[in-house]
Amino acid sequence: MTEALINDAIISIDKVVKRYNGFTAVDEISFNIKKGEIFGLLGPNGAGKSTLISILCCLFTQDSGKITIDGFDNIKDSIRIKNVIGVVPQEISLYPTLSARENLAFYGKIYGLSKKALHSRIEILLDMAGLTERADDMIQGFSGGMKRRINIAAALLHDPKILFMDEPTTGVDPQSRKRIYDTIVDLNKQGMSVLFTTHQMEDAQKLCHRIGIVDKGQLIALDTLTGLLELTGESDLIHVEAKDIPPNAVESIRKIETVQQVSIDEDSMTVQLLKGRELLVNIIDILISEGAKVEFINIKEPDLETLFLHLTGTKLRG
Ligand code: ADP
Repeated sequence: MTEALINDAIISIDKVVKRYNGFTAVDEISFNIKKGEIFGLLGPNGAGKSTLISILCCLFTQDSGKITIDGFDNIKDSIRIKNVIGVVPQEISLYPTLSARENLAFYGKIYGLSKKALHSRIEILLDMAGLTERADDMIQGFSGGMKRRINIAAALLHDPKILFMDEPTTGVDPQSRKRIYDTIVDLNKQGMSVLFTTHQMEDAQKLCHRIGIVDKGQLIALDTLTGLLELTGESDLIHVEAKDIPPNAVESIRKIETVQQVSIDEDSMTVQLLKGRELLVNIIDILISEGAKVEFINIKEPDLETLFLHLTGTKLRG
């Protein structure tokens, strides 16, 4: 899918393609990010999210297509772009034997901040990260979530207009996750545009003004959460954990009139269908009569997981 160019875009991505040794990781992706927007790029591992965000961060360039960030072309004006973007990479990039404050001072010097500006900026960002009291402790003693919060602070030292974050909540405890969510919302309220990638639908559902769904290098849907969920219609998702699910049972379930998708994993089955509550008993009956050993059943209303299954026939996770 593609999106028409818009006037209030701070980032515009037009038919971008990136190949690795002939393998197309990003396949003609086009969309815009509006000024002041929190935009989430959601998709499973291998979808091409990191490749696209790395191109936007000017780490490398696309094979074809055009990208404009705050009015600058990513190939011709990458140095200017680097002044307006903050980048939080997927991997933590901090020196373990330096303190949080020393790490921030190191990055601040790379950005060329004066000593005075750097000092006050570091205090503000330590406070934002909730780590003022741990500022002089070595990073090696920090939890994954605390390191991630300092990594985010490091990306904000030069007060960028746009923040790029690659999987900001991966490997993060719930408390730090909540703080990262709050930080993103606060920064956005102050006017910062944010683009992050995630394979966790909770991130996208909680934070984003708009969500782009990518799969196999392509943008397969883009809208607000409400708009995306409307695409699933009224369908429910039934998840069954069962041992020995026979192919006959799967075939019979596929034949039920309102069933839209059935996906099978080892020892589990997910069925997307209309009127899930009414048909739950039929589905369980089929499984049991065909010899499956049902252990757990769960039914849920449409969410991005349902949408992903609806669009691709596969589950988002795994
Ligand atoms: P995501 O961030 O959505 O997990 P990536 O952008 O990391 O996806 O990867 C997209 C595809 O490109 C994957 O199939 C991955 O294996 C491949 N890929 C990523 N980086 C390289 C690379 N440097 N060389 C070859 N293939 C790569």
